Amino acid sequence: MEFKKVGVIGAGTMGTGVTVDLVLHGIYTVLVDISENSLEKAKGEITKSIRFAPLVHKGAPKVPVKEAMEKISFTTDLSQVADCDAVVENVTEDWNIKEPIYRELDKICKPGAIFGVDTSCISITKVASLTGRPDKVIGMHFMNPVYAKPVIEVMRGFHTSDETVKHAEEFLAQLNKKAIIVNDYPGFVTNRISHLFMNEAMWVVQDQVASAEDVDKIFKKCFGHTMGPLETADLIGLDTVMQSLHVLYESYQDPKFRCCPLLKKMVDAGLLGRKSGKGFYDYSGKG
Ligand code: NAD
Repeated sequence: MEFKKVGVIGAGTMGTGVTVDLVLHGIYTVLVDISENSLEKAKGEITKSIRFAPLVHKGAPKVPVKEAMEKISFTTDLSQVADCDAVVENVTEDWNIKEPIYRELDKICKPGAIFGVDTSCISITKVASLTGRPDKVIGMHFMNPVYAKPVIEVMRGFHTSDETVKHAEEFLAQLNKKAIIVNDYPGFVTNRISHLFMNEAMWVVQDQVASAEDVDKIFKKCFGHTMGPLETADLIGLDTVMQSLHVLYESYQDPKFRCCPLLKKMVDAGLLGRKSGKGFYDYSGKG
């Protein structure tokens, strides 16, 4: 199956990243957000990424900005995704926000359209239960920056069909990506593990065992990771990390996912990481 037009819901960190990758690969995109402000901000970010993607990642296609931008419609009207072949939903990691969107999408979208759930931790099976097409709902855990990632974690919900898995693989192949298919439990593989070590790294900073810089340096220099846990948390967005920890805590009822108070305090103070200009590190001087 060839995907010609795709709906992207949510124009935040992930929605803009997914949109960039879609248009770099020639796919028409309808980008929907509830906030005009987010859409305006997304326009700027997308323009910048289309220009810089091939410079920072040699696998990214070089497409003139004008040509790529003409493939995107920016809208606050969800019904604009009615004729899309697939929808990738990337709204805030909050069940109460995602829930009404899937009920609406199920009514709006054509029957064959598949729903890709871009979530950090929320159960794909639970999302699928909101729709009359649970066989066509599948998790697509895109990672940031989307255009630079050749592999993606794909989560199979309880009712996800083999056909949908195949279509998801075909869709990702259009983006030059391969899927690693995993089963559906909250947090899947990536975030069930990574949120434990990011959270614990924050406890370590809170307990003044080491500075954020030294924690990250240990991961990079001693373990050979490309990024440390606190740099990663800043890149994801500290609000999203906190929301994901809440979902994991609620889902497993396990205290090991208890959110570090320092993280809560930083989110309350508006320190959300790269997207707000400050988190464990200061990005205010970096365009
Ligand atoms: P974000 O906070 O940057 O963006 C969320 C966007 O959703 C905002 O622009 C907001 O206005 C919009 N939104 C809220 N309610 C909406 C509605 N009813 N209709 C349309 N748009 C709405 O969040 P993000 O970091 O992009 O994360 C989005 C999803 O992707 C979350 O579920 C998150 O867990 C997941 N995710 C995030 C990352 C990451 O690195 N940030 C990685 C993989 C998956």
